[in-house]
Amino acid sequence: MNISKYSWNSQFDLHRLLWDLPMLVSYSLVQCLAGKTDAFKYIESAVKKTGNFGILIMQIIKYLPQPASTLLNDVNLPQTVLILSDNRLHRWLPTTIKEVHALGWEALDVVLFTGDAYVDHPSFGAAVIGRLLEREGLKVAIVPQPNWQDDLRDFKKMGIPRLFFAVTAGCMDSMVNHYTANKRKRSNDAYTPGDRAGARPDYATIVYSNIIKKLYPDVPLIIGGIEASLRRVTHYDYWSDQLKPGILVESRADMLFYGMGEKSLLEMVRRLREGELITRLTDIPQTAFLVSKEKELADGTSWKEFKLFSHEECKREKINYAKNFRVIEEESNRMEPDTRLLQTIGDKKIVINPAWSPLTTSEADDFSDLPYTRLPHPKYQGKGDIPAYEMIRHSINIHRGCFGGCGFCTISAHQGKFIASRSETSVMKEVESVVNMPDFKGYISDIGGPSANMYKMAGKDLGICRLCRRPSCIYPSVCKNLDTDHRPMSELYRKVANFKGVKKAFIGSGIRYDLVFHRVKEEEVNQGNLAYLDQVIGNHVSGRLKVAPEHTADQVLSVMRKPSFSQFELLKKFFDKANEKYGLKQQLIPYFISSHPGSDVGAMADLAAKTKELNFKLEQIQDFTPTPMTLATVIYYSGYHPYTLEKIYTAKSQDQKLAQRKFFFWYKNENRKELIAELRRIGRPDLEKILFNR
Ligand code: SF4
Repeated sequence: MNISKYSWNSQFDLHRLLWDLPMLVSYSLVQCLAGKTDAFKYIESAVKKTGNFGILIMQIIKYLPQPASTLLNDVNLPQTVLILSDNRLHRWLPTTIKEVHALGWEALDVVLFTGDAYVDHPSFGAAVIGRLLEREGLKVAIVPQPNWQDDLRDFKKMGIPRLFFAVTAGCMDSMVNHYTANKRKRSNDAYTPGDRAGARPDYATIVYSNIIKKLYPDVPLIIGGIEASLRRVTHYDYWSDQLKPGILVESRADMLFYGMGEKSLLEMVRRLREGELITRLTDIPQTAFLVSKEKELADGTSWKEFKLFSHEECKREKINYAKNFRVIEEESNRMEPDTRLLQTIGDKKIVINPAWSPLTTSEADDFSDLPYTRLPHPKYQGKGDIPAYEMIRHSINIHRGCFGGCGFCTISAHQGKFIASRSETSVMKEVESVVNMPDFKGYISDIGGPSANMYKMAGKDLGICRLCRRPSCIYPSVCKNLDTDHRPMSELYRKVANFKGVKKAFIGSGIRYDLVFHRVKEEEVNQGNLAYLDQVIGNHVSGRLKVAPEHTADQVLSVMRKPSFSQFELLKKFFDKANEKYGLKQQLIPYFISSHPGSDVGAMADLAAKTKELNFKLEQIQDFTPTPMTLATVIYYSGYHPYTLEKIYTAKSQDQKLAQRKFFFWYKNENRKELIAELRRIGRPDLEKILFNR
């Protein structure tokens, strides 16, 4: 069987395949289609006899009653790269040396290590980077969740790549993944088959990188993903309760990609292939690297330079660390960034090049339309679900970026403030792929993004945006230059909902309702925005609409950069009315945070009273977790607001945090006495009356 005549794209036409496959396999396939499951026995023997197709497994999930995992267990083939399902032949990137050889590859160009399981889906960064490199014609392998505690065979098995090693901790910072807000070790990991904990180390980027650098000191190593990105300069690490240096120092990596790394990666690959050394690539936007403190970078760029307070200065004076944050955040959120940030540490200097301008629609489409299988690698069959994948397997991400600028959130720090929207064509193509998934039952779980309702939103006059340094386009008030028209989203939702095979398309991402209620002078936009919310409540809620007011007290909301709670009250009225109109009994579920910087017992008592008056007994609540590189974390550690340099209180001890948290559960008898005593202590008898009818 000569497989080389096929182009190595991930999809083949079934008819072509049937035409070309040996008779035995074709026969087996027909048997399978007819429901004779024992035909897999034939397939098994067929694939073992057919050379390159020894790695082929036929998974006719759509046509057979059993779950795919049972079938695959029956087939019991050693390696799986290709899977036929839904009339298409899928191919994953190789994860073992056998799979590499099965592709006829002798050596690799890039080896990518990730702390997550390998899920070949655009929501998983390693898949995006792997597929992008593949599209560039490179031979790339992914080593998911390598064992860092044995003889390190996972780090050695792929050999030395021709271009570079790459490391990511995965979709989450490994410490956020591993520990609760109270620093208790979690017993699960949503990015691992079976939700199993322990598949990656703490500080995964640093651990993986050091192993690679020890084994292969001369091979270029790049790091990326949210952990590397948000730890690129001196940052507060909540779990060790200290300021840590930029992660390039401890990881010893040659280069760091921050934010969404595709464009930097393409540029780097092009230049490495032209024979440039990685040490010469100092002018690629959105990258960071370490050089000696004295080194002058004469690389021909016209970027300005800004010297941040050094790591040592930050350690000496917390306020310096706070001041740094303002510069970093403002520079990260510019439309046309032009300033290189420098931070010294010891005799070294971290250089952070300015970011790329926001992606265009065609670039966003390009990175979304790569030939993902949208499935976990078959090696995980029978090892349990990957919860993070189960959540998004039938969802579609329609844009990147968020201009909310919430103080506790890392999205804008990572993806940026400007929205990069995909075209309708690209989104609808993905809808078609989801509809064609064998297990799709007609329900799209989310048409969303970091915030659901920012698709296609941008400044009306981009000239003004180019000069803007606001970290949020909607806080403290919605910018007059922001086009808040929701009608393109309404239109897109309608198209998705009417697509053949879709019974319902839900909106699972958080809706910024303050954006919907914002009034502009064009009445048709105001009406269109309210019609959008009505459409969402009527057609796109799966029983519960989750939203995130996060707090009720203005003193906290202003630190969070969140709108007044009155906006939530407006939403509640609108929601109740729309439900009545549609004869629905849906629930509104608000999310809240306790112990956020700025929050004290009085603010929490306010939260309890206001939510009680709206008839809520809260369930979606959490303690604030200080994650790297957020405004709130900087305040938590330094005590200063980086923009005003005002001092701000944060609850830090367990007792202080518990005292705040108890107000969520004012209705529990066992809390009553203690809460009444607290309210008396802070002189709020008015709230005592509201909460306990006294
Ligand atoms: S000018 Fe307004 S819309 Fe443009 S970036 Fe600034 S805040 Fe956002």
